[in-house]
Amino acid sequence: MNKKIIITVAVTGSFPTKEMNPAVPYSPKEIAEAAVESYKAGAAIVHVHVRDPKTGKPDFRIELFQEVLNRIRDACDMVINLTTSGFWLTGPDIMQKRLGPVYLKPDICSLDLGSMNFKDRVFNNPPQWSETAAKCMQENSVKPEIEVFEPGHIRQAVNLINKGLIDAPPYFQLCMGVQWGIEATAENFLFMKSQLPDEALWSVLGIGKDQLTMVTLGILLGGHVRVGFEDNLYLSKGVLAKSNAQMVERVADLAERLGRNIATANEARRILGIRNPE
Ligand code: ZN
Repeated sequence: MNKKIIITVAVTGSFPTKEMNPAVPYSPKEIAEAAVESYKAGAAIVHVHVRDPKTGKPDFRIELFQEVLNRIRDACDMVINLTTSGFWLTGPDIMQKRLGPVYLKPDICSLDLGSMNFKDRVFNNPPQWSETAAKCMQENSVKPEIEVFEPGHIRQAVNLINKGLIDAPPYFQLCMGVQWGIEATAENFLFMKSQLPDEALWSVLGIGKDQLTMVTLGILLGGHVRVGFEDNLYLSKGVLAKSNAQMVERVADLAERLGRNIATANEARRILGIRNPE
């Protein structure tokens, strides 16, 4: 098999802290540096959350997203994927705040649909959110990365596709093993994959110790993969990863050994149907 594989690196997320792994990036500078280092190791896409630079608490200030975007764009042509999960936001205008990153016109924004229990809280994605967000991304020529944490989310995505709110080809991220989404087993992975529309492109991630197994299956099944500190902090049991780039390097090596060629950022754009940056 020589189909190109797109490696996404999710460098920080919302949950990991420097206490858990000192290499977790907080400031826009650290986040951008982790992205660029991962790009050099073979990642074509970076998935970005932002943190308060001092405390490391999850943040959603638009100027932090903008700084990360600028720093990465100044350094390389990496495909940039900004989160719209807004998982920690409170207050009355959450939906508008969550759409903020879309207006910065990155290549991709994550699109969450379907509410669920997620660790110790509710991940709130009412039907009107996913429809509004899909429409907003379409209007701003931002490719949605449809994050699905259980099979019902795929049904909701298909509904949006049928309504013409998501342009072809739809791009899914199969999120395996988040607490309390679908468990990361090979059977569940194959089932999730079987539920995708025929024309769908897909990537897979696994949480914690399931990262390497899910990603390996993803490589073998001809899909794309995601690694990074958002999903896992360890290289192996009890051994912390030194950097996001180290995880990218390992998965790139594994993919090549298993006969897959690593997609460059521009190849990833072509595969996903994303316009080239101006
Ligand atoms: Zn994320």
